[in-house]
Amino acid sequence: MDGVHQAHTAKKYRAYSRKDIDKIPGLQRLPQAQRDVLKAVAHVLPFRVNNYVVEELIDWDRLDDDPIYQLTFPQPGMLAHNDLERLLPLIRGGASDRETMPVVRSIQMALNPHPAGQKQWNVPKDAGSAVPGIQHKYRETVLFFPAQGQTCHAYCTYCFRWAQFVGIEDLKFATAESERLAGYLQRHREVSDVLITGGDPMIMKTKVLRRYLEPLLKPELDHITSIRIGTKAPAYWPFRFTHDRDADDLMRLFEEVVAAGKHLALMAHFSHPRELETPAVKAALKRIRATGAVIRCQAPLIRHVNDDADTWAQMWREQVAQGCIPYYMFVERDTGPKRYFEVPLARAFGIFSQAYNQVSGLARTVRGPSMSALPGKVLVEGVVELPQGRFFVLKFIQGRDAGWVNKPFLAEYDPKATWLNDLRPAFGAEEFFFEPELASLKPRESDQHHFHEEIGALTV
Ligand SMILES: *Cc1c(COP(=O)(O)O)cnc(C)c1O
Repeated sequence: MDGVHQAHTAKKYRAYSRKDIDKIPGLQRLPQAQRDVLKAVAHVLPFRVNNYVVEELIDWDRLDDDPIYQLTFPQPGMLAHNDLERLLPLIRGGASDRETMPVVRSIQMALNPHPAGQKQWNVPKDAGSAVPGIQHKYRETVLFFPAQGQTCHAYCTYCFRWAQFVGIEDLKFATAESERLAGYLQRHREVSDVLITGGDPMIMKTKVLRRYLEPLLKPELDHITSIRIGTKAPAYWPFRFTHDRDADDLMRLFEEVVAAGKHLALMAHFSHPRELETPAVKAALKRIRATGAVIRCQAPLIRHVNDDADTWAQMWREQVAQGCIPYYMFVERDTGPKRYFEVPLARAFGIFSQAYNQVSGLARTVRGPSMSALPGKVLVEGVVELPQGRFFVLKFIQGRDAGWVNKPFLAEYDPKATWLNDLRPAFGAEEFFFEPELASLKPRESDQHHFHEEIGALTV
């Protein structure tokens, strides 16, 4: 794709979802049988793309190995063969949603829609009652999920939040929610960072986002020094920042946050260098940076999409070239069609190192491969050969107990392990050093509805 020579013309947002599959121009050349498979998978996993993704990011002549097609379109390998065979006759027979529903639900439930631990462990309690929309796992950072930012401009097929996509548009609700957040922060002076996430908060209209951001600027919250917004909008809908009706107002809002003395960071999700190539994304990044906001970039390592060292090296170089800061490479979590996308930790470490080795220090701000697991963010630091054998060197870059952070620890090397709970402590130890304390941090019985024991259970 020769992005540089494409005219930078604004588009009007048009979403395509499951029922529009036959209307997507590039798909019309696929045989009917293939489109039926696509529809079958899209019944189970959420599917949404838009005209920008379809027209500017996907190369329709090379579909089989097109990274953005793999990233956004349902693939046959995402469902077990048996499940696909249960659904296909229904799809071919033109079954209604009501008829496919029981089969669809039973397949979905087997895909671990709600990774364990998230609700039970991270939702804080104030005066004994849970504070909805907030997760407070690491002392200095509060995660906030505005109810109206829980969907995205397009969906990533591997997304672990696929079970929660809903949309509401209600200013009153936003106000009540943001007051609850401000109240919580006022009582928690140890917090310096607020991370607004979703879904994608940039799906919200500027006037709604403003309801959330402005209360954070008041003098009572002077301990909040940084505000981050997690988003994939620069990759999936860059016009949000340049041409949408309230794009100018959004830039003024960013400027206001910066003028109030806060560090404003857009935590941009970029999966592949192609997403950084179009004139539209370049204009968006430039405009965001002109407000004084900083852009930090993160993404999970995904098989079929970006499981290649040169892809990451090229992506980090391009980010730095456009004034952005590489931040995290994540390991994919254990929900949804994980089998299809997973990359073993050993291979993830190899890809990370090989990419890291070929970029300058300015791109080595990136950390990874990192697992956001129940006890904390665990980094695969390396692989060592000792007289006793081969081991992974791991370390926490965030921990439920800050005392766990930055201390290397070892696990038996296992080329097939894909997550923390696949790993065994080195030298025949019964458990990892943090496990006794983790057990003592376990929420009270009364708070546990669907509690799962394994340490690898995922949280944000
Ligand atoms: C990653 C993460 C953060 C932010 O951690 P940093 O090290 O500051 O980037 C905060 N809360 C949760 C739950 C996280 O997963």
